[in-house]
Amino acid sequence: EALPARLHEIPRRQLASRPEAPALIENGVVWSYAELVAAAAEARDWLRSVGVRGGDRVMLVGENCRALVAMIFALSELDAWAVIVNARLSPREIETIRSHCAARRVVYFSAASTEAALHAQHVGAEPLSVGRLGELALGELDLTCLPEPVQADSARQVAALIYTSGTTGSPKGVMLSHRNLLFIARSSSGLRRLRPDDQVFGVLPISHVYGLSSVCLGTLYAGACLQLHARFSATETLRALAEDGISVMQGVPAMYTRLLEVCGEAPRHTLRFIYAGGSPLDPALKQAVEARFGLPLHNGYGMTESSPTISQTRMDAPRTDVSVGPAIPGIEVAITDDEGRPLADGEVGELRVRGPNVMLGYYRNAELSAQTVDAAGWLRTGDLARREADGALFIVGRSKELIIRSGFNVYPVEVESVLNAHPAVVHSAVVGRAVAGNEEVVAFVELRDPTQASAEDLLAYLAERLSPYKRPSELVILPALPAAATGKILKSQLRQLAQEGAIAGQ
Ligand code: ATP
Ligand code: MG
Repeated sequence: EALPARLHEIPRRQLASRPEAPALIENGVVWSYAELVAAAAEARDWLRSVGVRGGDRVMLVGENCRALVAMIFALSELDAWAVIVNARLSPREIETIRSHCAARRVVYFSAASTEAALHAQHVGAEPLSVGRLGELALGELDLTCLPEPVQADSARQVAALIYTSGTTGSPKGVMLSHRNLLFIARSSSGLRRLRPDDQVFGVLPISHVYGLSSVCLGTLYAGACLQLHARFSATETLRALAEDGISVMQGVPAMYTRLLEVCGEAPRHTLRFIYAGGSPLDPALKQAVEARFGLPLHNGYGMTESSPTISQTRMDAPRTDVSVGPAIPGIEVAITDDEGRPLADGEVGELRVRGPNVMLGYYRNAELSAQTVDAAGWLRTGDLARREADGALFIVGRSKELIIRSGFNVYPVEVESVLNAHPAVVHSAVVGRAVAGNEEVVAFVELRDPTQASAEDLLAYLAERLSPYKRPSELVILPALPAAATGKILKSQLRQLAQEGAIAGQ
């Protein structure tokens, strides 16, 4: 099936035969495909009237809501770039992104957080009501914004500018083309075997590419219905799974951890497909979810720079281990040494990927773009992986997070999965700490109940299960691990904490 040329063609695919079919549900309010297309047209006219032109960057600050989806299609019609940022960012983070991309306009949605409202106030944004889109606030016109050239080719025209999670450092603006996002929407819809009568649970933030392309656009590509949620709540999720006829759920591992804390032995649900991606899946978590929900938990791997999907487990071949599955159809992957030479099956090396999901580059950072995607189109993921003979991929860690202790490789994910299997542990994060030309292993742990285990108990538990060089030199129990809006643990903050701890302790 040929891909459409632009994102806004996705909802229009349903107009001829199923205009009244439900597209989006938010707090019980339903928009049909016809209403979604009409709302996008209203948004397009309004954007034009406030000075937005092709090639402009327009920032959308909000949590998942119908108006945000309509606005993304409206910007697509205008050939403007949607810079979608999560409303939970601090006013300073929003400001950094706004000035980095020189946005023509900033649009704040009513479902924006108080932090985002502070930024809106700071820039003197005006509150407005825009037809079906409801309450919005609009930031002042930035006349320094120079439009980027509009590209007729859907593989060259930017649809979305997405800033990465910032797990490993400062955020980078990833330019994703219409073709990038459409390719993943089609692939995601096909690999999940979505049907028009499916109802998909939409809690992953549309401000991140997993929620945007795989969940939101993938669902609409299939003509199915997306139930939008602004924020994750385990109790609300369990209610929706029991009562609303949800058939498909995509989440991150941290969401499933929370669900298990709240759900009973056999939660009521109408699911046929459940999926985790975005960060490492723990074997213990996978087993527990499968036992309670009575379904295989599928796993997928990707990154913002690859729109995001690179691999996922197949519906007819669920796994008992935590493989992230084979590469998705239509792309190439290679496991390579530092020079980019392919390694044999079973060997650990950097995963590289090439195909229609690979980004156009980092906006306003040609140097980093050239280091990340080579002239032949191969994207360096920075992730260490191995591949089995049948094509199944295993992610063993990030090359930057690899800890080299006295010449031995310690993969944080391995230590974390042992810790996470301890009944008192909610989740954990393991980082390296530089000390006198060597590296130490430091573990951070969040407990279900701090009276259940001490740092000494956990260190003793690890000592029984890990070889000495993998055991943490220090284990710190925190009330909560710092996490991004996607639920991803922010290891850069923890690495800094570990390093400062070392200095303070000297
Ligand atoms: P930044 O690039 O700003 O430091 P980030 O890499 O966390 O942040 P994302 O693009 O959201 O930002 O995350 C992609 C990364 O998440 C991958 O490179 C990989 O390390 C990790 N990841 C994603 N899915 C999985 C998975 N299923 N298993 C293991 N790791 C995963
Ligand atoms: Mg990254």
